[in-house]
Amino acid sequence: EPISLCELTRTIAERVQPAFEKSAIQFSYLCEKEFVIDVDPARLQQVIFNTLENARKHSSEGGRVSLSVKQKEDDIWIVIQDEGEGIPPEDLPYIFDRLYRVEKSRSRDSGGTGLGLSIAREIIESHGGTIEASSVIGKGTTIRIRLRKGGRENV
Ligand code: ATP
Ligand code: MG
Repeated sequence: EPISLCELTRTIAERVQPAFEKSAIQFSYLCEKEFVIDVDPARLQQVIFNTLENARKHSSEGGRVSLSVKQKEDDIWIVIQDEGEGIPPEDLPYIFDRLYRVEKSRSRDSGGTGLGLSIAREIIESHGGTIEASSVIGKGTTIRIRLRKGGRENV
């Protein structure tokens, strides 16, 4: 069913804020304009939660993490950006594979199954979208989710 993407992401932003505060990471949120789009809200929420949790886990105190929703032509982009440790270029092609983790001991929370991003990719592809990562070691990581503007769009 068509849902408001700003409403969904704003709810997520409010829910993750306390965890970022606890970790002393600055979290910012922007939804450029109101988008109404046909997605499974629970699944999309799961993807964004997991990606933000990755960003938090791999950032250090004083770092910034942002969640933004924007439109470019016929696509809607959900972008999660961090200033954390980054992902080595040799690992980057595999982070969406099931159970793949970069160095088990690396993240501040040692937990994690390596399933988050593979599930995220399944969910986004089942919506006809794409999810990709770019990263620079020591500078940070950006996850870009592209969704086709399937539904109506309200200005
Ligand atoms: P799970 O999400 O199942 O709890 P996980 O976070 O280890 O476990 P994924 O979310 O699939 O698994 O991520 C795969 C790996 O990619 C992570 O183990 C981590 O090494 C790396 N990674 C993911 N996001 C980031 C990020 N924002 N910064 C640095 N490394 C990341
Ligand atoms: Mg994860």
